[in-house]
Amino acid sequence: MEKKRYERPVIKRLETGVPAKFGRPQKPEIMSDIDGVSVESLVNQFGSPLYVYSEKQIRDKYRKAYKAFSTRYPKVQFAWSYKTNYLGAICNVFHQEGSWAEVVSGFEYDKARALGVEGSKIIFNGPDKSVEDLEKAIKNDSPIHIDHLDELYTLIELSGKAGKKPSVAIRINMDTGIYPRWDRFGFNYENGQAWDALNKIMHSGKLELIGLHTHIGTFMLSTEAYRVAAIKMADLARGLKDKFNHKIKYIDMGGGFATANTLKGSYLPGDDITPSIEDFAEAITSALVNAHFSTDELPVLVLESGRALIDEAGYMIGTVLANKRLATGQRATIADIGVNLLFTSFWYEHKVKPAQEVTQFTEPSKIYGPLCMNIDIMRDNIELPLLNKGDRFVVHHTGAYNNTQWLQFITLRPNVVMIDENGQPHLIREKESLEDIKKLEQIPEHLRNFEL
Ligand SMILES: *Cc1c(COP(=O)(O)O)cnc(C)c1O
Repeated sequence: MEKKRYERPVIKRLETGVPAKFGRPQKPEIMSDIDGVSVESLVNQFGSPLYVYSEKQIRDKYRKAYKAFSTRYPKVQFAWSYKTNYLGAICNVFHQEGSWAEVVSGFEYDKARALGVEGSKIIFNGPDKSVEDLEKAIKNDSPIHIDHLDELYTLIELSGKAGKKPSVAIRINMDTGIYPRWDRFGFNYENGQAWDALNKIMHSGKLELIGLHTHIGTFMLSTEAYRVAAIKMADLARGLKDKFNHKIKYIDMGGGFATANTLKGSYLPGDDITPSIEDFAEAITSALVNAHFSTDELPVLVLESGRALIDEAGYMIGTVLANKRLATGQRATIADIGVNLLFTSFWYEHKVKPAQEVTQFTEPSKIYGPLCMNIDIMRDNIELPLLNKGDRFVVHHTGAYNNTQWLQFITLRPNVVMIDENGQPHLIREKESLEDIKKLEQIPEHLRNFEL
């Protein structure tokens, strides 16, 4: 007899549908429209798969967040994190609401400029800024957030060349009680790197230090970590006042606030455990108002929240391609949304709702994408009613990072639409064509022809 192969043990939560005190698990929720526009009409007009954004929900979310901070603190400025979603229409909704731009590359910087954002309202973050990028940012008076000493020295050199002082902040990393620590960006608070950078800037006389920046992590579920961070930032500001009699204009607390998505392995759904934006605002602003600042010295509080402002306003509509039984007997539903289009399915258990009437009987299922790859799994284990071939469904909370991290892989990227506040859908990014891909490629002369 052949020796049995070792198989790695895996622990999985059973979803047996335990009755609640009200009885059996709920009927599957149906979602047949988005902001009053029927899923079927969206697919008829724009195809499937389809990305859909709700302009109303983006504006509501932004206004709620702005209100949460600005009622607790007198000077607040948001800056839209481009890498979270840099579709022009999305950025412009935020810019219309008053958000500046926050960019982390030369490309994103140029995109913000092309949309018409003034240089002085583009915050330039990130570890990779070329000399040309920095020269451009200096010329346009953009706040440059320094990531490392090499960048600091380059800026001191460029300052002489440009004949003007670049406006800079430094990025700080610190122990906020969250591990693993994010210490690869910026200068460390505890070990003295932050002060080393601040002293170098102040003594150089070549740079205008206008702010302090931190971005402590991403998908943060702890509001306490922000309180700790804000206290440390205020402490640095006090040190600058004491030592150099220098007043900074702003403290930038970055982004990273979690959304209602459910992280893989999380026992409770994100809807239940994610702190509200008011909770984050309370932690940050109470730390700042209780610091040493007098009223006229309060720095502007800058926020670079990305995911928390867009994730829940984004949806994906998909179509079932087939159903099959796996060797284990488990039902597998194959859909037209692959991990190349829904990159976030690698770390979230995205909520999926059928878009038409279904039976109330559900079964633990897997949802696969259409790619010819074993890892193309949208949901590994989800209680789902039978969805038939051709049925539509809606995936929730897809607005953050999917339209920036998507891959053109095996299939072409589909249409993206935004439903305006009057319920009118607009195409905001056209689906790709073979021509688009071919346009970028070049075939050397000797490879042009072949005979088979
Ligand atoms: C990515 C990023 C953000 C936005 O993070 P979210 O988790 O989307 O809120 C803000 N600031 C910086 C510097 C970033 O790199």
